[in-house]
Amino acid sequence: MKVTIITAFPDFFDDFLRTSIIGRAVKNGIIQVNCVNLRDFGFGNYRQIDDYSFGSGGMVLMAEPLKQALEYSCSEHYSEAAYVVYPSPQGELLSHNMVKKLVDKEHVVIVCGHYEGIDERFIEKYVNLEYSIGDAVLSGGEIPAMALIDAMARLVPNVVGRMSAVQNDSFYTGMLDNQHYTRPAEWQGMKVPETLISGNHSDIKVWRRKQSIMRTINRRPDLIAKADIRYYIDTYAVFIVSDKIHDLEVMREISEICKLNGVIKNYLVSNGLHFSDFKQVKNLEQAISLLIKKYNGKYPFVIDFTDYRKTIIDWADLKRLILEADSPVLFVFSIEQEIWESDILALTFNKLSGTV
Ligand code: SAH
Repeated sequence: MKVTIITAFPDFFDDFLRTSIIGRAVKNGIIQVNCVNLRDFGFGNYRQIDDYSFGSGGMVLMAEPLKQALEYSCSEHYSEAAYVVYPSPQGELLSHNMVKKLVDKEHVVIVCGHYEGIDERFIEKYVNLEYSIGDAVLSGGEIPAMALIDAMARLVPNVVGRMSAVQNDSFYTGMLDNQHYTRPAEWQGMKVPETLISGNHSDIKVWRRKQSIMRTINRRPDLIAKADIRYYIDTYAVFIVSDKIHDLEVMREISEICKLNGVIKNYLVSNGLHFSDFKQVKNLEQAISLLIKKYNGKYPFVIDFTDYRKTIIDWADLKRLILEADSPVLFVFSIEQEIWESDILALTFNKLSGTV
């Protein structure tokens, strides 16, 4: 991760780049962050970098010093391949997905505005992305720059001690994190949830999953449409196969897709066909009753795609219903060549993972 900050106030970053998680990552060379002082590219003895805004009178950072600072940032530190971002209240809201894309860039240059902002022509010519840290106005781009650098650094391996902690954080899968507690187990009469101190790891996992789901549904239902919910649910699939189909390759591919997407077991309803990756059942009802037994009487949430052409689904609603149900999910597919070709299976998993 290589980032250059162009700022008229480099002092802001002294402590930031020396403290805590970011300080350690910079010191160990895991991330590289450079500050370029915009004043060095100012005009005249006063190193002028701003001037009055045409029409409204406040101060605006001039385009030319910004351009020179940008050219310097690219030539001095890295290649020409700089991705230029401008923190702005008018930009796209900062998000996990945005941060993930930025970490993959070779070199990110953050241009900090101040006063009324920066000359619009510089934005038009050089800025690749404008991002906002929320619907409120700050005095400068320095704090938003720190917020972005911090968020990016967390996704770089070895910056945060345990990557699993980062992966459990809010937004990583698109959902919110569960709540956290530490010692003492009882404080001011309030107890830590029993499960967490039980030491039963599978119970703890279930508890955490459930809390994440409830928090996301209650606090940020808007996240669910794009969230990857595959790891929050137990999924099963049953394939109803007509006699025409006996293509081992197709069945293998189906089983592979299911496995990749975390499907626990595939059931197969067919007249006499056997495929080793599928558990043979007589009919749909038998698959359902096997699941009821496995889940101590809990009825699975059955989603039937056998007549999918007639089905209109709002995936955001369906995903919410699935999460609320807190039951195993059973997808029912009918495998005829034409249905397979239409990729309904792949579409289902793309929707569950929030990728489409
Ligand atoms: N006149 C501008 C605000 C300028 S604030 C407007 O109303 O749109 C000065 C600088 O602070 C901006 O140039 C920008 O770099 C930064 N800034 C202010 N609020 C921000 C926010 N919510 N997100 C990101 N950057 C912000």
